Amino acid sequence: MLNIVFLGPPGAGKGTQSKIIEDAFGLKQLSTGAMFRAEIAAGTPLGLQVKSVMDAGSLVSDDITDDIIRRRITQPDCKNGVILDGFPRTIPQAEALDEMFAEFGFKLYAVLQLVVDDAILLGRIQERDAQSGERRPDDDPEILKKRLAAYHSQTAPLLPFYKAKGLLHKIDGMMPVDQVTAEIFRILKK
Ligand code: AMP
Repeated sequence: MLNIVFLGPPGAGKGTQSKIIEDAFGLKQLSTGAMFRAEIAAGTPLGLQVKSVMDAGSLVSDDITDDIIRRRITQPDCKNGVILDGFPRTIPQAEALDEMFAEFGFKLYAVLQLVVDDAILLGRIQERDAQSGERRPDDDPEILKKRLAAYHSQTAPLLPFYKAKGLLHKIDGMMPVDQVTAEIFRILKK
């Protein structure tokens, strides 16, 4: 079982790289953002609960987020391992993940940090809109600034947290996509 956490600001390429690794290693990508967007699209009570927080570029509460991951990682399609794309995003979530993994007998293999300068991210998100046509309400430039601020204040503390555990690998996310992938494969020893 190969369990990986992806860390990086919005637009760093976590989703793109997660999909590539998912196919190459037979893992399951779990994106909490995508799960929340699916709940919103389906009009569920959970979707209704998280929509305004997400649209504002803020983080959904730890309890709700931990719960959606806890229910998901025990599904049969996660048996080879998971790529956590966008979770954990706070220290309490990282602690909850440790507890879940201990409870289920899972092990975290590596934490991959995609490093991209803030100035480049805004441009990337705008490109994502132009290319995919999948504009998200939170891709608005003002909201993106809030998401970046949330990353720096709430998620960046995870870097020393995982470094202390000897799990953190820093990757230059400003390289071309295939070079980033090659670096990840090297770390995962493929
Ligand atoms: P993403 O698709 O990863 O950019 O996530 C989109 C939005 O979903 C974020 O801006 C948050 O509002 C919410 N979200 C996703 N993952 C988490 C998480 N681990 N903790 C709290 N909120 C999250």
